Amino acid sequence: MTENDKALSAKVPSFLDYAPAPESTSVLHLKKHYGLFIDGEFVDGRGDAFSTISPATEKEIASISNANSADVDVAVAAARKAYDRTWSKLSGADRGKYLFRIARLVQERARELAVAESLDNGKPIKESRDVDVPLVAAWFFYYAGWADKLDYAGLGPNPQSLGVAAQVIPWNFPLLMLAWKIAPALAAGNTVVIKPAETTPLSAMIFAEILQQADLPKGVVNIVTGAGDTGHALVNHPDVNKVAFTGSTGVGRAIAKSVAGTGKKVTLELGGKAANIVFDDAPMDQAIEGIVNGIFFNQGHVCCAGSRLLVQENVHDEVVDRLKARLSTLRMGDPLDKNTDIGAINSKAQLDRIRELSDIGEAEGSERWTADCPIPENGFWFAPTIFTNVSTSSRIAREEVFGPVLSVLTFRTPAEAIAKANNTPYGLSAGIWSEKGSRVLAVADKLRAGVIWANTFNRFDPASPFGGYKESGYGREGGRHGLASYLESAGWAAPAVTKGGKK
Ligand code: NAP
Ligand code: MG
Repeated sequence: MTENDKALSAKVPSFLDYAPAPESTSVLHLKKHYGLFIDGEFVDGRGDAFSTISPATEKEIASISNANSADVDVAVAAARKAYDRTWSKLSGADRGKYLFRIARLVQERARELAVAESLDNGKPIKESRDVDVPLVAAWFFYYAGWADKLDYAGLGPNPQSLGVAAQVIPWNFPLLMLAWKIAPALAAGNTVVIKPAETTPLSAMIFAEILQQADLPKGVVNIVTGAGDTGHALVNHPDVNKVAFTGSTGVGRAIAKSVAGTGKKVTLELGGKAANIVFDDAPMDQAIEGIVNGIFFNQGHVCCAGSRLLVQENVHDEVVDRLKARLSTLRMGDPLDKNTDIGAINSKAQLDRIRELSDIGEAEGSERWTADCPIPENGFWFAPTIFTNVSTSSRIAREEVFGPVLSVLTFRTPAEAIAKANNTPYGLSAGIWSEKGSRVLAVADKLRAGVIWANTFNRFDPASPFGGYKESGYGREGGRHGLASYLESAGWAAPAVTKGGKK
């Protein structure tokens, strides 16, 4: 620790005393066991049931059914029947009514969903309550509005739905990823079979209850729980028309190979290694908060996390010192406590990966600093960590850690910042911090990333398209672009016609 660090941490107590303020779990009415949700009913899976646990305590929350390939067959058949007989026959306005109803029920059961999400995933309740669940409702409201306006989406007249969509999602935003997948698919007139991640199926089970409450026609949404094998059976099923996957680049690549030549339409939302670029004229107070939010939000389990901080050399020491002081005030612990800033790592496997890559970072010569916060006895935890002196070739600068670990690199000129930011196999997101608007626009123009935030980070809106370049995948979710992935005539563009009818 430098003298400056010591002075700063003396000023900011490393642990502020707060009385515990745990959110009550009494709002949850958990079942001991959850079945698969097929054709509007909960049914038992043919595979061996598994437990979902709380990563903060390692205690079992519920037993979950495991769908094998025969169960996936039944789910796809239910989705096909619902597509042919009901959903594709409804008007857009009627589909929209169901989506509005789902959105309102999500709002009504918001507290329950937030508690379930924090319990199962480990994320702080203030995030599931104030970010995940409100965005889930917003996504359904937004796409409900599109359902009867598909003719005006810029995709040609009367765009057609695809049929049955197979959707596979990860554990970092379990309910939000489910909403990103289901809302546009249904608005566009498709039916769905979706597989939540093995470690976070709970909120999807409550969502299934919401679908029953909303009286959604049977089979329009089917939820098959299980592990990678279930996902494999689903995306490779011969009777699905569309595959939508969010997860790691490795699995995404395997899926792209296996569906090549089948005629299935595919969107892949994969990993990222975003650059968060801080110029010396940045509004520094906001930038520090933005850097913290960029990488420590959701324990860094965020595909678009600002995991590579590129800071202009002349403000490097100031930024790093202020970051360390700020991180020393974050509270790590019980995800259900409303004071908690940093929750639990979602699984032992993910914790092991974060530890391994961090150890490699140190072995490769980067300097490691970890916030001094008490680590709870049980559960999976990793304190906020910063690596300085990181070289561009270091593995922690290139690979997705997917945890609360920030790599700090420096640059001198905008050109160097752009070159370093683009020096990655990924291209999902980026951030720019500068008081000068013209510089922000000039730099943004040259970054190869699907989403670029200026003087903010990790902001999401259903009207805004989201997706990546290169190994971050292809296709866009959100906004009008998100509809295109679920409609036959995507890519249609009106030819330029002059008055006389000639091009
Ligand atoms: P993952 O291992 O690829 O898993 C994602 C999903 O795929 C899970 O439901 C998983 O099931 C399933 N799966 C595993 N093997 C499969 C296979 N062979 N065929 C079909 N499905 C299979 O990824 P993860 O570790 O859960 O999630 C973290 C990754 O997701 C990170 O790389 C992150 O960047 C990325 N992500 C991207 C976005 C985006 O929008 N670009 C958003 C969020 C996360 P099990 O869970 O049961 O293994
Ligand atoms: Mg769990």
